[in-house]
Amino acid sequence: MHPGDGATGGPTAVLHRYEDLVAYECDGYTLEKSLPAAVVFPKSTEEVSRAVKYLHERRIPFLPRGAGTGLSGGAIAQGGEVIVSLARMNKLLSIDYLNRRAVLQPGYINLKLSNSISSKGYYYAPDPSSQATCTIGGNVGENAGGAHCLKYGVTTNHVLGLELVLPNGDIVKTGGTLDSPGYDLLGILTGSEGTMGIVTEITVRILKKPQGVKTVLALYEDVNDASRAVSEIIAAGIIPAALEMMDKIAIEGVESGNYPVGYPRDLGAVLIVEVDGIEEGLQDQIDHIIAVCQRNRVREVRQADDAQERARWWANRKTAFGAMGTISPDYLVQDGVIPRSKLPEVLAKVGEISAKYKLRIANVFHAGDGNLHPLILFDSRVPGETERAVAAGSEVLKVCADVGGSITGEHGVGIEKMEDMRFIFNEREIQVQTDIRDVFNPHSLCNPDKLFPKPARCVEVKKFVASTKE
Ligand SMILES: Cc1cc2nc3c(=O)[nH]c(=O)nc-3n(C[C@H](O)[C@H](O)[C@H](O)COP(=O)(O)OP(=O)(O)OC[C@H]3O[C@@H](n4cnc5c(N)ncnc54)[C@H](O)[C@@H]3O)c2cc1C
Repeated sequence: MHPGDGATGGPTAVLHRYEDLVAYECDGYTLEKSLPAAVVFPKSTEEVSRAVKYLHERRIPFLPRGAGTGLSGGAIAQGGEVIVSLARMNKLLSIDYLNRRAVLQPGYINLKLSNSISSKGYYYAPDPSSQATCTIGGNVGENAGGAHCLKYGVTTNHVLGLELVLPNGDIVKTGGTLDSPGYDLLGILTGSEGTMGIVTEITVRILKKPQGVKTVLALYEDVNDASRAVSEIIAAGIIPAALEMMDKIAIEGVESGNYPVGYPRDLGAVLIVEVDGIEEGLQDQIDHIIAVCQRNRVREVRQADDAQERARWWANRKTAFGAMGTISPDYLVQDGVIPRSKLPEVLAKVGEISAKYKLRIANVFHAGDGNLHPLILFDSRVPGETERAVAAGSEVLKVCADVGGSITGEHGVGIEKMEDMRFIFNEREIQVQTDIRDVFNPHSLCNPDKLFPKPARCVEVKKFVASTKE
């Protein structure tokens, strides 16, 4: 029996044999692997609480896991922790159309929510490209974004209430009313990457589907012209529902993947621009966008004829990461954020990093948000290439931080970017944040050694001890 398929309690609620644990040795970040001590599958908040109390009393570290699609290693048991899988807590508990909210268990799959309420004219806005597999609990853990978050906001803007099992097993609730007094714990917990407890119930905002949607593709010879068009579209006061970009190497990948659109292979970049809202006036916005694209030397503009064509374009874009597997044995996804106006400058620097490390880098991004996803292509069978890919990724994030951006837009820090946090925060700023975490997680039992780097002094001591052993 598969542990996620609904049996309650009993021997199927715990995995402990090597052959079962191997499936949990990593998440979507595959560069580091480690076996958990066990995986447990609670079915209710009370079962999570009981399991956590048991672990807490014995000081056994543990971590929550949704679908394991995270790209920064947040759900990897790097120290052999026990994994608390939320896969069996996968129910839609209630929908309140009048007040536009839904209550879900954390293992509920993102896309299922929109599918479940679509016939009533509603949807859930945050749409990570992994939405067919990732869970709402994991989305809360990472504060996930998606193509349509430019206009509608990321997960934190849609979470109205949370139930949480604290690392000592106590159950607490926060939010739920329109404006709770006191500190904004929802804001702190959303994006906390499982370091403050296990979310066991989530209340989210649901939205009425827009009356109309229009989508255009703008095909460019020069990626810099496309970048300038992105800045100008936003500067013109238009907020598209989505504004995505793929560069030449990314186009090579998606056109070799399962959902080719038929982009000419010599293109420098493509923009996908979507507007939605009241039907009246949408074409005016599209005309305005096309005029901006033309001012920036677009080669060709295509407008979607119908919903099928739009869906085909989005399938091509949303499977871009996986499509890289058709042009490279391995790839490393990065997730930097920059001010939109810096796109040409940063893309040029990414090109320099690509040349320096002798690795091809494809760029797929939520351009409207300035959220870059450089995909560093490498071959792990070639000695030294994995290390070069990791170093190139870190250097890209430094460039993003140096232009006033950030080291993560949506994929989180996990174990992958802990040291890169120093590009953004000084020692004291990191300390303030770990102090807050310690209020929830005083013994560091829940997802230990993730998100924040160790204090610099510890790193120095470790280096010193290592040098004395050489
Ligand atoms: C092909 C592909 C495309 C992707 N595209 C996007 C994208 O467009 N936008 C985006 O934001 N991300 C994207 N991702 C990354 C990933 O899908 C998201 O981060 C997603 O939110 C992870 O959900 P999950 O259920 O897989 O969580 P997991 O990977 O299982 O966990 C992620 C983190 O959340 C914590 N966590 C999980 N469940 C809970 C819980 N119940 N309580 C507390 N903490 C919890 C975990 O400990 C871990 O730190 C993509 C990934 C892939 C593989």
